[in-house]
Amino acid sequence: MPFELNRRAFLGAVAGPLLASGACRSNSETPTWHAGVAAVDITPEDSLWMAGFAARTVPAQGVALPLHAKALAFQAAGHPAAVLVTVDLLGLTARLTDRAAIAVKRRYGLSRADILFNASHTHCGPVVDEQLSVAYDLSPEAWAAIRAYSAGLEEKLVTVVGDALARLAPATLAYAQGQAGFGRNRRVRFTPEGPVSHEVPVLRVTGTDGALLAIVFGYACHNTTLQDKFVQYHGDYAGVAQAALEERHPGTTALFVAGCGADVNPHPRGTLELVQAHGTALADAVDATQPAGASVESALHTAYATVDLPFVDDAARQRWKAGLDIDEKYLRRHAALMERTIARDGGLPPAQPAPVQVWRFGSTFTLIALGGEVVVDYAHRLAREYPDRQIWAAGYSNDVFGYVPSLRVLREGGYEGGDAMIYYGLPGPFTEGVEELLLTEVRRQMAV
Ligand SMILES: [Zn+2]
Repeated sequence: MPFELNRRAFLGAVAGPLLASGACRSNSETPTWHAGVAAVDITPEDSLWMAGFAARTVPAQGVALPLHAKALAFQAAGHPAAVLVTVDLLGLTARLTDRAAIAVKRRYGLSRADILFNASHTHCGPVVDEQLSVAYDLSPEAWAAIRAYSAGLEEKLVTVVGDALARLAPATLAYAQGQAGFGRNRRVRFTPEGPVSHEVPVLRVTGTDGALLAIVFGYACHNTTLQDKFVQYHGDYAGVAQAALEERHPGTTALFVAGCGADVNPHPRGTLELVQAHGTALADAVDATQPAGASVESALHTAYATVDLPFVDDAARQRWKAGLDIDEKYLRRHAALMERTIARDGGLPPAQPAPVQVWRFGSTFTLIALGGEVVVDYAHRLAREYPDRQIWAAGYSNDVFGYVPSLRVLREGGYEGGDAMIYYGLPGPFTEGVEELLLTEVRRQMAV
């Protein structure tokens, strides 16, 4: 149902309850929730280069499954609205989400903590911004087409947030947790049976008429059933699962939140039959949690900040580079990018700003959303850290700048431990402080 954003209706829905209540954000009374959901097609009209696999040799050759951006707005009476935005893309960049968040604040008044972007990490979407530029050898025309797409995407992200806010209506929220088994740790070189997280967190949003308005669900596994030989736009297993849930529950919008699965792959993988099987298995896991679920009875408390993750020093960087076993052409492109960075900024960045965002839905569950490709150790570490809470750990949130290894994975090395920094155009591996720095920021936000 199309809905034109009407400023008066919007102010009535959003600002009204806000003005009536003041800024109280820690009210323990059971809130009356409002929710609104919207979706927009973000499949490129053109044949753009596809993100994620450096081995591809041609741009997209058509559409196998359309890509979407979706927004789910929540608001407890007397509290500000918050909006979750999910996209069927490899990742968004800080530049894109910062600009979109500024526009969202200007148009709709949302603070940065109240908007959360998550990307499904499909490797069958277009390259956006300049993400992973070292991995691709593209003409200036191809980069210009990606820039044009990225600008249009930014506007669509802002618009879909407005559409969701304009539809805020009374609703109930319920949290549940299922299981799906197709993720397998891929660092077999280091740990033959490495850690995984099979949890499928689920948030159901139901209207007062009993109709299911939205289903948000997550899984901690690379969205890479389809591989480099597949060159059509497709949302991979997460796209199939969303489409399956929307077909099974007409009128519902399904939103996928990528978890901390940077070192986990779907198993087995490589064909359209398998992507269908994994997507269906995930949709089944979501549906299996019905009708169980804990009702969300406390208002949402949000926090957001970036934490600087330092890179190793120059001497350690030189040793790291000398030991890399990576095709010469990527090392050359990386070196050229570092030279351009030094010429522009007078040096290499000492650290990577990493977004951390915590959304506490009272005592029912807490969404901890980290930027980057976050390894599965973090899902387990966060669960251990808060044994008395239901933790929904998300990666790929707000900025996908590179891999985020745990201390264990950093010390082991390999692709997720450091090598992938080359493709992401980062100067070198993180220091051993990476895990504790992120945990310290999470603890700070949990205590606010
Ligand atoms: Zn990845």
